[in-house]
Amino acid sequence: MAGSHKPTKVLLVWLFHEIALKGNNRRFFLQAAQHNIRTALRGLPAHVTFVPPMSVRIQLPEDAYADARERLQKVFGVEAFGSALWTAASWEALVEATDALLSTLPPFTSFAIRCRRTEKRFPMSSAEIERRLGAYVGERTGARVNLQEPERTFWVRLLPDGFYLSVERIPGLGGLPVGVSGHTLALLSGGIDSPVAAWRMMSRGCRVDFLHFHSFPLVSTRSQEKAQALAEMLTTYEYRSRLFLAPLAEFQQHVVVVAPPASRVVLYRRFMFRLAERLAHRIGAKALITGESLGQVSSQTLDNLATIGAVVRLPILRPLIGMSKQDIIAQARKLGTYEISIQPDEDCCSLFVARHSATRSDPEQIQALEARLPLEMLLQQALEHIKVLHFHFPPIARTSPLPGAPTTAEALSPNDPEPREAAR
Ligand code: ATP
Ligand code: MG
Repeated sequence: MAGSHKPTKVLLVWLFHEIALKGNNRRFFLQAAQHNIRTALRGLPAHVTFVPPMSVRIQLPEDAYADARERLQKVFGVEAFGSALWTAASWEALVEATDALLSTLPPFTSFAIRCRRTEKRFPMSSAEIERRLGAYVGERTGARVNLQEPERTFWVRLLPDGFYLSVERIPGLGGLPVGVSGHTLALLSGGIDSPVAAWRMMSRGCRVDFLHFHSFPLVSTRSQEKAQALAEMLTTYEYRSRLFLAPLAEFQQHVVVVAPPASRVVLYRRFMFRLAERLAHRIGAKALITGESLGQVSSQTLDNLATIGAVVRLPILRPLIGMSKQDIIAQARKLGTYEISIQPDEDCCSLFVARHSATRSDPEQIQALEARLPLEMLLQQALEHIKVLHFHFPPIARTSPLPGAPTTAEALSPNDPEPREAAR
């Protein structure tokens, strides 16, 4: 760049302002964000450079822009991004970049210049740059400055490595970079709510693995296929994940013998939570995530949430607890999980249960029922029969038949390690 004024086209990413609030952890957050951007762009010929204090510059060939834009839109921690002309930190270079940009734009009648500079050594203030460049653009185009409703906005950023001039600003997802908050395990049914719950926790920086319970062979493998499709879709936001498929049928057959239909769902859930906690310990997950929403169904009354949650000590994250079904559906539609979730399946929780489950569980009665079950044996058995699928996005090998398709299916080894780093 030095010496030459020739502007270079790049993609400039602004990281989310929330990261700026993180005090001593800021470096860690910024590194995670960069790392995730690099992973998201894997397979593209992109050159990624961090530009302090809070931006990332991406240089890539013209034909890779569309793909990169699509992927950046799914990276948590990104406030906004857009293509920009990058040039030297001089007034002449900025003017030259402006000329180059104007020559690519269709005519407009009003505009605004918005300048921000983190590089304070430049002799002009932001307001001065806005005024002078505004006058220049007005002269060149005949358009008028309109700060309220401009037809075109020109963003000027002065960063330590030069000026960035842009007319494109695509909003990012915001949130925190996946990984900064630690590793969690989401209970993923084939329904509408739990994928949204998992996604919301990803947006708070959680790395999420998934656990799905199925009643195969009492029912078809449909719910497992849905869980796979959902995990695959959600992996596009976190780059790698695992889906654990756990059998519930054996436990359910025992429950049918000892418990009345109205109590069964609560028993199923307590078993799920117990097993989820054990699995979480094995894989190093620090919390469980569910798609529960208060009062949505009979198993989600305050009483039942308490009875179900009482069997585990790990924190249970319920990001949808105060959301309405309409709001959850709207989010699922935006995410793209809705279409998968509404496909018919045979959910394990609807097997052998009453049409109306008890809204109020009596913890003592539930415990008495459990005392009649070989609980420990059933838990061990279910744990031993867990299958695990690994997902990667973007796919690691270019020869992979389907993007994000599970690369391996295997039984859970007794001490499954932390999520694999093979993705890098
Ligand atoms: P969802 O759309 O998430 O299935 P729902 O309204 O159908 O939600 P429930 O079926 O009562 O609610 O489930 C509540 C939560 O329990 C789910 O959000 C999920 O976290 C967990 N859960 C339910 N069924 C399963 C399952 N088969 N495997 C794993 N987790 C499950
Ligand atoms: Mg469900």
